[in-house]
Order: sequence, then C-alpha cells, then structure tokens
Amino acid sequence: MELFSIIESIPTQILTWMGLSTIMFVRYAIIAGIFFSLFYYAFATKKYHRKIQQKYPKSKKIWEEVKHSFWTALIFGFLALVITWMTDWGWTKVYTDFSSFGWAYAGFSFVALLMIHDTYFYWMHYAMHKIKPLQKFHAIHHKSHNPTPWAAMAFHPMESLAEFAFVPIAVLLLPFHPAVLAIFGVFSFVFNVIGHLGFEIYPKWWLKHPVLKWVNSSTHHNMHHKNGNGNFGFYFNFWDTIMGTNHKHYESKFDEVVNRRAVAKDRVEDAILV
Ligand SMILES: [Zn+2]
Ligand SMILES: [Zn+2]
Repeated sequence: MELFSIIESIPTQILTWMGLSTIMFVRYAIIAGIFFSLFYYAFATKKYHRKIQQKYPKSKKIWEEVKHSFWTALIFGFLALVITWMTDWGWTKVYTDFSSFGWAYAGFSFVALLMIHDTYFYWMHYAMHKIKPLQKFHAIHHKSHNPTPWAAMAFHPMESLAEFAFVPIAVLLLPFHPAVLAIFGVFSFVFNVIGHLGFEIYPKWWLKHPVLKWVNSSTHHNMHHKNGNGNFGFYFNFWDTIMGTNHKHYESKFDEVVNRRAVAKDRVEDAILV
C-alpha cells in the first residue's frame, strides 16, 4: 500500500521538481540577464575602465556558462524538492505561521543563514581546491578565467549538489519561514552575480572602510577565477583573513581598477563585445 502510494505520487513529484527547477533557472536568467545587459551593453562604453580584466570572453565561452547553469538549475530544483519531502516527514524546522516567531526572529534567521552559508562555502570551496579528486569537479567552474554574470551557476553536477547542500542542512538546525528562504535565495544570487560580473562596482574607498572592507568585492572573486589560488570566500572576508588565503595583490588590484580613468569612446569600441 505504502509502495503503491509512492509510485502513484511520482508524476506529481516530477512536476514539482520541474516547477522548482524552472524557478531556479528563471532566477538565474533574470538576475544575470539584468547585470549582463547593463554592463556588457548599456554601460559597456561608459564603464569600460571598471572592467577588471580589460578584455572580453568569447561568446562561445558565455554559452558554455549558460549550458552548465541549466543543468545546475535541475539539481538545485531537485534539492529544493528534497527539502519539501523532509518538511513533510517532519524533519525540518520550517514554519509557515509567520507570527509564531515574529519579525525579529525572521531577521535573525536571515543573518544566521548568511553566516552559515559563508562558512560552509569557504570550506567547501577550499576543499574543492585542495583535495585532488574534487579538483576535477570544480574545474568546470574554473573554465571561466574571465567570468561574466552567466558563470554564476556554471558547475559540474557534483559541485551543484555541494553548493546547495547547506540549505537542507540549515533547515535541520534552525527554524526558517519559506519567505526568509526565498528572500535569501534572491539576495544570495545577486551577490553571486556581482562576484562574477567582471566589473568592479564598489566605490574607491571600499577597502579603506573599517566595516565594508569585510564584504568581498567583484575584484576579489574575479582574481580567484583569473589566478585559481587564494580568495576562496563568498560574502565576507573573515575566513580568507583568518586562514591567510587572500591574494597578496588583492588590495593593489582593487586600487588599480577603481583608480583608472574613463577611456575615450572610440578606443573602447574596438575592445568590447563578445
Ligand atoms: Zn574556485
Ligand atoms: Zn566563481
């Protein structure tokens, strides 16, 4: 009987999986699409001096980023489906009545998830670089030496599983409202796209600010793609600082990019476009 009801529910589960995967891909397409349209077309000339690497990747490379991201959306969607199962089985602490924990807790849970993700990401990413059998999975993401926003989900399927795995773990540990998870999903993805933007968008004084310098810049992750070693962190610079893994030229590279002068329009037009 039990087995029969599982078999009976398969079509619904597949539909839910496709629906959740579509949400993941649409999130990617909209957020990466907006940043790509603005920086690679609308402001391409005006902001060329902020292009971290003063060259553009080939369009073939960008299509590869999109192709890998498509498969990642299916895996992220599957893990989101697993969370709905875990919730049905009563394993997670997900709650739907917002008033049972209130606004202050919702804010706390968002910040807690940010810290959990940041620590999880640093060590997962560090392991992907340091442990030999994992390096070949992470190599897909590092095919982009000069990343664009489309690289934000360009992972090997095994890395996609590892990238999203902190969410099912976090919902076992702390109560989360689905709205907090959804807002976090958008926030986190915008930060991810900025990391792969290829343009430095922070003001000149960012790394001189006592608090904001702890928030990673686009230059930070761009250097990770270009050089391969160092700069493993995601949102914050805490773990790279503690572990001494910041690239030794991070600050000087950031200064070099933000202090460049705007380039004359006719000189830029030869350089841009994929
Ligand atoms: Zn890496
Ligand atoms: Zn990356």
